[in-house]
Amino acid sequence: MTWCSRRALVRGAALAPLAAVAADGLPRPARRYFAGHGSYEYRTLAYDLHLDYDPAAGRLRGRAHIRAVAERTLRQVRLDLARLSVDEALVDGTAVRPGRKGHKLLLPVPRHIPAGAPFTLEIGYGGRPGPVRTPFGQIGWDRTGDGHDGTMVAAQPLGAPSWFPCNDRPDDKAEFTFRVTVPRGHQVLANGALLERRESGATECWTYHHRGPMAPYLAALYTGRFAHETWQARDSATGRTVTGRNACPVRLSDLARHDLGRQPEMFEAFTRWFGPYPFETYGAIVVDADLDQPVENQTASVFGRNHIDGERTWETLVAHELVHQWYGNSVGLRDWRDIWLNEGFATYGEWLWSEHLGEDSADTIARAAWNTLARRGGGLRIADPGPDRIFDDRVYDRGACTLHALRLTTGDDRFFAMLRGWHDTHRGRSADTAAFVAHADRTMPGAVAPLLHAWLYDTRLPPLPPPVPRST
Ligand SMILES: [Zn+2]
Repeated sequence: MTWCSRRALVRGAALAPLAAVAADGLPRPARRYFAGHGSYEYRTLAYDLHLDYDPAAGRLRGRAHIRAVAERTLRQVRLDLARLSVDEALVDGTAVRPGRKGHKLLLPVPRHIPAGAPFTLEIGYGGRPGPVRTPFGQIGWDRTGDGHDGTMVAAQPLGAPSWFPCNDRPDDKAEFTFRVTVPRGHQVLANGALLERRESGATECWTYHHRGPMAPYLAALYTGRFAHETWQARDSATGRTVTGRNACPVRLSDLARHDLGRQPEMFEAFTRWFGPYPFETYGAIVVDADLDQPVENQTASVFGRNHIDGERTWETLVAHELVHQWYGNSVGLRDWRDIWLNEGFATYGEWLWSEHLGEDSADTIARAAWNTLARRGGGLRIADPGPDRIFDDRVYDRGACTLHALRLTTGDDRFFAMLRGWHDTHRGRSADTAAFVAHADRTMPGAVAPLLHAWLYDTRLPPLPPPVPRST
């Protein structure tokens, strides 16, 4: 299994062609990464997933209701779905015969759907879901627990089609509803808020709703038996109280309570630095499996049992995944090429958290990271690292150093105002590196565009500006 915060470079992996000719003939962003995923012919508005899961057999029955809008005249709707079979499909209520081509699900459209028109899809599907093969290893849906009676999802970047049919683009965000039926005694966690639990005979249906908007790769489902811990935190930007929910294997509950216990303090600090928390709730979900790295599933980050030791050894990752709720989830990516906007920001959030605790300052950590980058030559164009390097350490550390260089250049007040403005401007949408450079240049004094170009677009590593007294 492979996961998010910081992934090793996968060498020699088979990658989707960079500038794949669009089968739909649409203009695409230059060199879109993983062009085999997603379609630009339409955008989704809402997914309503009715799922029936049998843990003993590992079988899933699903019915996906999708509302979408055509971006051009549609004669066929292309979705991403891996491993699972489709037995029924309807387009605008009319049954159609689905086709399959690799992980693509192709639905013919009975009557052409004109550009701008809304339409609905209904897809009955099922099978034994599991992680799908990607250039980053096997990712997506997986089973947990020694008896494999639990499940989890960690889909970044290409694993969403492992459990539901979707338009698997990071910039196609939608509202989500999950209605998940499991045997009584099993629990279900998903993105957003729990609306209802309804028992029926030997089963129970759990309904979650997340208004999002959310990219498919951040959708998550967890089943199993969990101990729960609820907590409340004050949003420093709005004064509202946000209720959080953690869940973990019962035997780890005491250790997890300690390791995850400073999330309310993180909330207060992060809402002061980054602005209002963008979603209705948040939770850290610890699954009964070892994970390489946690993943920032929207409102419900996932951690492995190996990240809980009662010593807060992995607290920087707790901070990292929470920062992603602003930068990565609320402000999403136009394309995977822009990944530094996720990982550079979340890494800088780790450094800010260390500084907040009175441990190493962001400046101390940045200079150590810079030295490491310099020893490695630092040579990576992080604004366009290449699809095989989106989780390269240099994207994380050089991205965070870029933000630190901005902070040193402009001072804390202007720097944090710029960060809050970036989230505020693009909240709930997707953005790219060019938009960030324009935003920073517009909102910070002294024309910072040349500095950003050197850090983001040159392969050569720029020097960090000299340290200045800090005011946070
Ligand atoms: Zn991350």
